Amino acid sequence: MSPTVLSCDKKLTYNVQPCLLRLIATLWYNMVMQKILEIKNLSYKYDGESDIYAVNDVSFDILRGEWVSIIGRNGSGKSTTARLIDGLMAASSGQIIIDGKQLTEENVWELRQKIGMVFQNPDNQFVGSTVEDDVAFGMENQGVPRVEMLSRVEAALARVDMSEFKTKEPARLSGGQKQRVAIAGIVALRPDIIILDEATSMLDPKGRLAIVDVVREIKEQFDLTVISITHDLDEASLSDKIIVMKDGQIEQIAKPSQLFLNNNLVEIGLDVPFSANVANDLRQAGLDIPETYYTESELADFLCQSILTK
Ligand code: ADP
Ligand code: MG
Repeated sequence: MSPTVLSCDKKLTYNVQPCLLRLIATLWYNMVMQKILEIKNLSYKYDGESDIYAVNDVSFDILRGEWVSIIGRNGSGKSTTARLIDGLMAASSGQIIIDGKQLTEENVWELRQKIGMVFQNPDNQFVGSTVEDDVAFGMENQGVPRVEMLSRVEAALARVDMSEFKTKEPARLSGGQKQRVAIAGIVALRPDIIILDEATSMLDPKGRLAIVDVVREIKEQFDLTVISITHDLDEASLSDKIIVMKDGQIEQIAKPSQLFLNNNLVEIGLDVPFSANVANDLRQAGLDIPETYYTESELADFLCQSILTK
C-alpha cells in the first residue's frame, strides 16, 4: 500500500469516527432525551409603544418528562412566559417550539392541546355548573366522543381523589379541592406538558403538598412534563432543574443542589431556604454534608443519623 493511500485511509477513519459518534449521540439524545419544548430568544411587551419588555430575549429547553420549576420575584416575567407558551398571547419576537413544531398563528389551537395550564386562583377557572361538567368542558371543546368523554371524566376524578364530589357545585369546594378538579380537567385532556402557575400558592402547606403529590403521581403515570412556577423553594428543590427569572430575563438555569449551594439567591430576590443556610454553615464549619438540598426535616434526619452512626 502506498503511503498516500494509507494517509488517506487514516484521514477517513479519523473523520468518520467522530462524525459517527456524533450521529449516534444525536440519535440517542433525540430518542431518549427528547426536547418537548424549545424557547428561542423569546420577547414580549404588553405595550407596543413602550420599550419595556415583560419577557426579554429568553431561551431555554425542556426535555420530555422533566419537572422544571420557574422561580423569581413578582413581575419577573414568569406568567408572561407561561402565557406565551400556552399560545394565549403572541410573542413580539422569538420562537416557541413545542414537540418539534414551531408555534404559529395557524397551529396555535393544535399545539395548545399539548399543554394544560393550572392557574393561581382556582375560582377563575371554572365553567361547569357541576364538577363533572367542568372536567368534561375541555373535552367537549375538543370534540371527544361522549362515551369516551364520560370514561375519561370518571378516571380523571378518581385520579385526583374527587369522584365523590362529581355532582357538586365547584363553588362549594375548598381551594385544594378546586385545584384538584382543575388538574382533573387537564389530565382528562391528555396533554404532554402541564404548567402550574403558582397553582398551590393560595393553599395551606398541607394542601400544597397534596397537590404536588397528585401532580407527581400523574406525571409518572402519563409521562408528563411539568413546568411549575412557584415561590415554594422546598417544592422547587424536588425538580430536575430550576429556571430563575429576573426583570424579564433568565438569571440562571441550574439543578436545585447547585442553586441552593450558591448564596446569590438573595441578589435574585429569593430567600435561601433555612435548611440550605444551616447546611452551608455546617459545611463551612467542617462537617461532611453531601452537596445536595435537604428540606428542614431531611436535614434533621441526616444530622441525627450521622451523629448516631459516629
Ligand atoms: P411574574 O409572573 O413573574 O410575577 P408577569 O409575567 O406577570 O410576572 O409580569 C411581567 C411584567 O409584565 C411585569 O412588569 C408586569 O407588571 C407586566 N404585566 C403583566 N401582565 C400585564 C398586563 N396584563 N398588562 C400590562 N403589563 C403586564
Ligand atoms: Mg405570575
